[in-house]
Amino acid sequence: MALIVQKYGGSSVADADRIKAVRDRIKRTVDAGNQVVVVVSAMGKTTDGLVALAESVSATHAQTLTEIAAKEREMDLLLATGEQITIALLSMALQSAGQPAIAMNGSQVRVVTEPIHTRARILYVEPEQIKAALDLGKVVVIAGFQGVAIDRVTGLPSTEITTLGRGGSDTSAVAIAAAINADICEIYTDVPGILTTDPRIVPKAQMLAEITCDEMLELASLGAKVLHPRSVEIARNFGVKMCVRSSWLEDAGTVITSSRIGTGNLKTLEINNFVEAVSIDYDQVKIALLQVPDRPGIAAQLFTPLAEKGINVDLIIQAVQETEGVNDIAFTIPQDQLRLAEVVTRSLEMGASSVTVDADVAKISIIGVGMIGRPGVAAQMFTALAKAGINIQMISTSEIKISCVIAASDGESAIAAIQKTFDVPVRSHQACEINPETNSDISPVRGVALDRNRARIAVQQVPDRPGMAAKILEQLVAQNISLDMIVQSQSARNVNEIAFTVAIGDLAKAETALKQFAPVLGYGEVSCDGDISKVSIVGANMIYQSGIAARMFSALANSGINIEMIATSEIKVSCVVRDHQAEQALKVIHQEFNLSGDRAIEVPSVLKTKP
Ligand code: ADP
Ligand code: ASP
Ligand code: MG
Repeated sequence: MALIVQKYGGSSVADADRIKAVRDRIKRTVDAGNQVVVVVSAMGKTTDGLVALAESVSATHAQTLTEIAAKEREMDLLLATGEQITIALLSMALQSAGQPAIAMNGSQVRVVTEPIHTRARILYVEPEQIKAALDLGKVVVIAGFQGVAIDRVTGLPSTEITTLGRGGSDTSAVAIAAAINADICEIYTDVPGILTTDPRIVPKAQMLAEITCDEMLELASLGAKVLHPRSVEIARNFGVKMCVRSSWLEDAGTVITSSRIGTGNLKTLEINNFVEAVSIDYDQVKIALLQVPDRPGIAAQLFTPLAEKGINVDLIIQAVQETEGVNDIAFTIPQDQLRLAEVVTRSLEMGASSVTVDADVAKISIIGVGMIGRPGVAAQMFTALAKAGINIQMISTSEIKISCVIAASDGESAIAAIQKTFDVPVRSHQACEINPETNSDISPVRGVALDRNRARIAVQQVPDRPGMAAKILEQLVAQNISLDMIVQSQSARNVNEIAFTVAIGDLAKAETALKQFAPVLGYGEVSCDGDISKVSIVGANMIYQSGIAARMFSALANSGINIEMIATSEIKVSCVVRDHQAEQALKVIHQEFNLSGDRAIEVPSVLKTKP
C-alpha cells in the first residue's frame, strides 16, 4: 500500500464529464490498495474568468501602492473560490460512487502561508486532519493554490485567505506530499509529460522520460508552465518523488529526478535554505564591446567565431541601450584563452566604439535551490557587496545561482561580506558547478521555453557607484516583485543603465515604485516595454560543450530576429526578443537543436474549444 498525492489541473477537471473521469482514476488507485490525497485546481479557465471579472469592476487608472495592496487581499478571496467549487464537486462524485471522501479548503486543512497576498509562500501544512481522514478510509480532496496566512503579531494561523500565485496548485500538491510523507506526488495534466517544448507551439516536441530537478526548475521558471517552479523546489528540498502524467492516458509520464537527499525543515517549508554556499572563481577575464550597432545577428557574429576557436564563454550579458539604439555586450572566459579570444574579437570589426579587456576580475556566486522568486536574496547579496564598497560589473541570475563579476582585488572582502550576510560555507568553484548527467547521449539542450509574460524595465542615468543596483532592487523587493535578467551597462561616463525583466502583471507596480524613488536615489527616467518575450534553452550538459549559445544566436539571426538582451548561466541561455517574433524564435531554436520527434503530441481537444 502506498500513500499517493494526485494533483489534477484545470483542464483535467474542466467539466462534469472530466470530473467523473478523474473520479474513476482515483477510485482505481484506491481499489489497488493505496491511500489517496487529491489536490485540484479550479475548473478549466475559471481563474482567468475571475481575474477578468475583477478587472472589469476595479479602477484602471494608475494606483498607489496602498491601493494595489488592498486590492490584492480581495483578489485572493475571489480567486480561492475557484478551487473550492472543484473540491466540493469531486468529493460529491466520489461519494456517490461509493467511495468515502472529504473536501477541504486551504484553511480547513491549514495550509499555513506567509501573510502576503497573491503570491504567498507555504510555511507549513498541518498533516493531522488529512491523516485522520485517510485512516477512516476516505479520499481527501484538497483545494490547491490557496492557504491561510499566519498572523504577523501572534505567529499563529489567522483567518486571512491567501493564494500562492498563478499555477500554484502544483506547489500545494508537493507541499502536502512532503508534509504527509507521501510515497509519490503525481501531477496529472493535459500533456503526456514534460516535453522538449510546449506542444501547442511545436506539435512534434518530444517526451522526456526523465528530467533532473535542476533542469526542470530552470525550464519551469523560464516559462514552461507545465509545472509551477516552486513545486520542483519543494520536491528537491524534501526528496519528494514526483512525476508528470496525462489525465487522459495511462502512459508512465516523466519522472523528475534528484540526486539530493531531502533535508528541508517542514516547519518552514518554502522558506528553507535559500542560500547554501558562496564560491569565487578568479580564473576569469572580462571582454566588453561597447556600443555595437543594434541589429539582428550581432551576437551570432561575435559568438560563432569564438565557439569555432573552442573558446569557452561563461557569462554573456547583452543589453540594448534604450537611448542610443546600440548594444553593449560583455562576456567572461577563462584566463588562458584571453589572447586567442582577444585576437578573434578585435578582428571582427563589429562597429563597437571600443573593446575593453579586463583581466583583473573574479566571479563571485551564491548557490542554493531556495532562491526562486525571492528577489530579496539578490538584493541582500548586492547590498552586502555595496556595504563593503565593492562595485558590481556584471550580474547573472539563474534559478539556483546568482553571480556577480567584480574586481579580483575585491575578492576576499566580497567573500567575507557575503559570508556575514548569509552565514554559508565557501565552496570551491568546481564543487559548486551543477552536477551534470555524465551520459553523453543526452542532448546538451533538453528543453526550450518561452515566457510571454515578461516586460522589460530600464532605469536610466543611474549614478555609477557601489550600491545603486542594491538600492533599486530593494524598492522592488519591498513590493515583493521578482525580477530577472538583470543587466547593468555603462551608457556614458559615470552613469549606468540597469535593465531587467519582471512579470508583466508586476509592471505597473514596479513602475510606480521605481518612479516614486527616482528623486531620492538620483537616477533618471524609468522606461517600460511590455512588448517583449523571453526565449530560453536549458540543459545540464551545456557547460561541457562550447558553442551552444552561439548556435542559438545564429538560429535567431538566420530568421532575422533581433536579440535585445542576453543572459546566461551554466545551464541556460535566455534571449529577450520582440513579442511578435517569440513563437517563431522558439520554433527555430527547437529545430536548430534537432529536438523534434516524428509524432505530433495530441493536446486534448476539450481545451482547444474553451474560451
Ligand atoms: P494544468 O491545468 O494541468 O495545471 P497547465 O496549463 O498549467 O496545466 O500546464 C500544461 C501546459 O503546459 C500544456 O498544455 C502545455 O501547453 C504547456 N507546456 C509548456 N511547456 C511545456 C513542456 N516543456 N512540456 C509540457 N507541457 C508544456
Ligand atoms: N487555478 C489557479 C490558476 O489558474 C491555480 C492552478 O491552476 O494551479 O492559476
Ligand atoms: Mg498548471
